[in-house]
Parts: sequence; structure tokens; C-alpha cells
Amino acid sequence: MLGQMMQAPLLISSLIAHAGRYHAEAEILSVNTGGGTEQTTWGGVEQNARRLASALSGLGLGPQARCATIAWNNRRHLEIYFGVSGGGFVCHTINPRLFPEQLVYIINHAEDEVLFIDSSFVPLVAAIRDKLTTLKHVVLLEASVGEAAKTLPGIIAYDDLIGDGEPGYAWPDMDEETASSLCYTSGTTGNPKGVLFSHRSTVLHSFAANLPDSIGFSAMDVVLPVVPMFHVNAWGTPYACAMVGARMVLPGPGLDGASLVALIDTHRVSIALGVPTIWLGLLGHAEAAGSNLETLKRTVVGGSACPPSMIETFRERYGVDTVHAWGMTEMSPLGTINTPLAKHLELPAEALHSLRENQGRPPWGVELSIVDADGVPLPHDGETQGELLVRGPYILEAYFHSTPGETLQDGWFNTGDVATIDPDGYLTIRDRSKDIIKSGGEWISSVELEGIAIAHPALADAAVIGAQHAKWDERPVLIAVLAEGQTASEEDILSVYEGKIARWQVPDRVVFTDALPRNATGKVLKRNLRDKFGDVLLA
Ligand code: ADP
Repeated sequence: MLGQMMQAPLLISSLIAHAGRYHAEAEILSVNTGGGTEQTTWGGVEQNARRLASALSGLGLGPQARCATIAWNNRRHLEIYFGVSGGGFVCHTINPRLFPEQLVYIINHAEDEVLFIDSSFVPLVAAIRDKLTTLKHVVLLEASVGEAAKTLPGIIAYDDLIGDGEPGYAWPDMDEETASSLCYTSGTTGNPKGVLFSHRSTVLHSFAANLPDSIGFSAMDVVLPVVPMFHVNAWGTPYACAMVGARMVLPGPGLDGASLVALIDTHRVSIALGVPTIWLGLLGHAEAAGSNLETLKRTVVGGSACPPSMIETFRERYGVDTVHAWGMTEMSPLGTINTPLAKHLELPAEALHSLRENQGRPPWGVELSIVDADGVPLPHDGETQGELLVRGPYILEAYFHSTPGETLQDGWFNTGDVATIDPDGYLTIRDRSKDIIKSGGEWISSVELEGIAIAHPALADAAVIGAQHAKWDERPVLIAVLAEGQTASEEDILSVYEGKIARWQVPDRVVFTDALPRNATGKVLKRNLRDKFGDVLLA
């Protein structure tokens, strides 16, 4: 017997239609690329999204035509998220920090037909325009094209484009499995790979993000996504916020500590999301500026391991709860979120705090497994480490334009991470499998060593690599960046490890450097560090 409920496809247009209908007055504050702020509402965003969808149809685009963006977090970008996908096209967000050759590769591989750009990126796009073989229209996210027409002839102003759109446009019906958005992984090795999300996966992921033990946005919140809208759809924040009508503050191009502290304090931000390096800058500035970050209740931190010392500073100094999350582009991206269980409420404070340091447990929709090198499942005992596999309805099956079946391993997606899982499902990421340090027969987690090192007050940044070693194959070496005006000896830095880990895991050496190399999504390029410092123990 079949169930007898209404057939209603899970569509991104239903998210914005809901926000426009029931949260029309909820404010969206947006920092303009050229300076200053403007304010709109979910009602305003919905109306412009309809206009945009109608205008794109007017340009003669076919179903699922790819429409790309190279843009900061601002309200026009938010309208594009919903207008493009809602209209049945695919919203392809591009990371501007990629090299020009990678941008050309990605845009041509995606077969983008429209490209929406912020004014900051006019020179970048002008320099590669003639290599973009499928591109038909470039749209500037401004009221008028101004000087941009000189270097990008034919460029259209966003406000002119949507001015031609129908405000009464009706969101089209379509299959919920239709492609809705596209993100490329940063491709530290080989070419970037496209992850193609569907309407269904996006709506289900929004539910998962909004569960109370997950991120749990609410209509009461003011949400600041510092994580860029070109990085896995800002971790799905725009969709999840529309689902519940949360107010938003979109920070534009200025992501320095001073700008963020000012936004949080002026606009009464309650939840902010971003990678650890962003919060290092913010904490440094909040202290200097004398801000108590009074309205901030929660920070959601992921993308790289969150150092325990950062969680502690947020908690002890500002009363802010840091929710540590792990995920990847291929998972839409939320994989695990660290929130406690009822039984943990009885724990002494210190034990509860240390439980909150790992990457957390999966929400509904994510299943975790760890396996050995032969693919044999390993116990979830919190001790045994293995290759981390995942599966679920918002996890990738095949990369864009690849052959289905060549990505999965017996129906599971291999994350490339090495992890332990405890009996309650709490995940601890030990390393990327290519970065874990193999010392003799033992594995040492570079993530753990980095998390401890960064607590040293003299350090601004730290990374640990496996350096070649004559006897042990590899030994850990700490690559350290001193904070401004600080000095410290190797011994002094290594003293942070005392009593925290076994002696044999302590790095053999500290090498000081000016800055760590990072990829377009802010992750440390360990391969470059190994090329540069991998032989320091051989001499
Ligand atoms: P990329 O495009 O670089 O793959 P992703 O954001 O998809 O960007 O990167 C996913 C990877 O980032 C994960 O597989 C994991 O190695 C790392 N990562 C993400 N969040 C965390 C975290 N909280 N702790 C440790 N590693 C993390």
C-alpha cells in the first residue's frame, strides 16, 4: 500500500517562497562592495529573485543552464542563489582566490553561460574573458555598469537585468532531483572537481542544519556567515536561514577582525560561522577594541580543526559557545556537529569541555564508517583510527561530468580523512590521510599537534608536517609563525606539549617561517611545506 500524502517536490524555490510569505519583514543587512551598507528583507530578496529568474528566462537560457558567480557575501548574491536555482538554472559559485588558469578551466568545464561578478573582480574577468568559450553574458552586481564596460564590453548591470523581469513570475515546478547548484573542490592535486547539488539534497541538508542539536538557526537569530558564499554555498547558510526566516548580516569583502567585530556589535549578531583563521583575527581585535561581543551566542567553526584554545577563549572570555563542525564540499557540507547529549550534562565541567573539542556527531542524514586499508570496517571505540567513509541523501555520488560508479566504494564515499569514532558517534579527525605522520610503525596526528601549538602565546600560526627521518621514516616538525613583536626559542615553543601528549609524539624540531602557504579555501598547503622543509632532519 502506498502512502496517501500530497506530492510536493522539495525545491529551493519553496525555501524563498516561505521566507517571502511568512518572514517578509525579517531584515537582511548587506555590506556593499564599494563601501557602506544597505538593508533589505526576505520579502525584498524574494521579489528580486523572481524578477531575476524571469529575466534569465528572457535571455533565452535553457533548463539547467549554468549561471556562475564571482562575488562576496552580499544581498544581490543572495538573490542570485534563489533566483537562479528557483528558476530551474544551476547556480555555480566560484572562488575568486583560484589562479586565473583554474578559473578558466572551471568556467569552461561547467559550461557557464552567464557570469555575475562583483566590481572587485572586473580586472580578473577582463583578463580571461576571451578564453571563456561558453560564456554569453557578464552581469555586474551594481546599479549601473560604469567604468566596467570599458574592459568588459557588453557587460549588463544587475539592476537593469532584473528591471526587465516580471515581479509576478511564478516559480516553475520541476523534479526535486533536478540539479540546482555547483561547487568545485579546491583541487590541491589535479584539476578541481565539480560537486553538483540537487534541490532535494539542498532542502534535506537545510533541515539537517536547522535541527536543534545541529546549527539550529531560528527566526530570533541574526546570522553572520563569514564563510564565503563561494565556499560550499556558505555551508548552506542562505538556504537554512530562508527556511526559518532568520535575519542575516552579509559582510561583503571586509573579513578582517575590526570589520567583523563592528558588524557583530552594531547589528546584534547572535550566530557567526567561519573557518578558524577568521576567528583568530577576530579574537585579537575584540580584545584590543574592548568589545565583549555581547550579543554573540554561538560561533560555528569548521573547514579546518578548531584549536581547543580558541573554544576556551570564546567560552571563558566572551561567554560564546563554539560549535565545532566537520564536513566537506562533497557532503553539502555538514558531516558532524559538536553538541552534547543529555547524559553529558552530569559530567564535571572539564570533561564536558574536552568532549566539545572534537568534530562532533552526525545529524540525521549522515552515516559514518571507518575502515582499514583493505576496506574492512573498524570498531567505533573512540581509539581505533581508520579511513573515514560516509553516505546519505546529501552526499555526492559522482563528480560533475564523471562516470557514475567510479567514485564510490561499495556505496560509500571515501572522505580522504583518517578518524576515530566513539560509541556515541563522536568523530575525531586525526588527519588528511596524505598528511598523517608515519613515525616507525605509529601514526601521529598533525591536527592534534597543531591544535596544541597554537595555544602558545608567541605563535600566530602553526602547522606540523612529517619530515623525512633516517631511522623512523618520518618525524613531526613544527612550522611556526611568530606573532608580531614576539620572540621564542625552539625549546620554549616545544614546552607547550609537556603533559599534553606522549613524549615520542613531540615534534623533533621547530622551524620558524614568515607565513604559511594556504589554498583558495584557506587550508594550509602541507605539500608545499613538505617540499620546502621535508628534509630538515636529514642533514
Ligand atoms: P576542499 O575544497 O579543500 O576539499 P572542503 O571544505 O571540502 O574543501 O574540505 C574538506 C576537508 O577539510 C575535510 O575532508 C577535512 O580534511 C577538512 N576539515 C573540514 N572541517 C574540519 C574540521 N572541523 N576539523 C578537521 N578537518 C576539517
